[in-house]
Amino acid sequence: MGGPLLDVRDLNAYYGQSHVLHGVNLHVNPGEVVSLIGRNGAGKTTTLKSIMGVLRSRTGQIRFEGQDLTRLPSNRIAARGLSWVPEERAILSSLTVRENLELPPARPGGWSLERAYQTFPVLRERGHHPGSKLSGGEQQMLAIVRVLRSGPKLLLLDEPSEGLAPVIVQAIGDMLQELRRDGLSVILVEQNLKFATRLADRHYVLVDGEVVDEVARHEVEDRRADLLRYLSV
Ligand code: ATP
Repeated sequence: MGGPLLDVRDLNAYYGQSHVLHGVNLHVNPGEVVSLIGRNGAGKTTTLKSIMGVLRSRTGQIRFEGQDLTRLPSNRIAARGLSWVPEERAILSSLTVRENLELPPARPGGWSLERAYQTFPVLRERGHHPGSKLSGGEQQMLAIVRVLRSGPKLLLLDEPSEGLAPVIVQAIGDMLQELRRDGLSVILVEQNLKFATRLADRHYVLVDGEVVDEVARHEVEDRRADLLRYLSV
């Protein structure tokens, strides 16, 4: 087919009267990992919510595999193969780990339970524990693996490293590297530059609801000071 997998043009988004995204343009090529970086309140989460149709008050064009998603409800957007792991890690806290994993039936191309357990053995060990009893890192692993069961074409991850111990961040980074090698396309929202630059092929910098810069992997070394400045408070 050629062309980007996801192509977002002139995206504007609103919470009531509050105009939060001001003409965001971005794209994700097939197999690419793209990061959205920026300070708190820059509009990163709003961009993901707008793409997923969870925030409906938006204008512009969001094309996925060449087709316009803008008018579709969020469940139909998800059915096209976009999966979002929100920052608050949407797992079902009253269900066990195993029930959380089994609830979304595995779809063709999606992760089997066996693959989930091989990647994160702790999920097997904790299989009978309720989601609410997991550590933050375990919840993040579960939240990501849950959506991978459905075999998404594009994964939208909101700050997967936030608040986690370094060893867990490393484990999640390793898993994302594996997904990357498998050719999964990802949008990664991050404030952890080290994590983002390890994984992403390209970075979009958001400031006050606008993309103000774009940095490719090979430019990161030369532009590290700029990237740090964009993220510093
Ligand atoms: P964070 O890391 O803090 O989530 P972010 O870059 O993801 O930052 P957004 O959450 O997208 O930023 O927020 C963008 C702007 O929209 C901020 O000014 C925020 O205060 C505002 N905002 C976010 N959610 C709402 C909401 N539900 N209602 C009104 N304003 C909101």
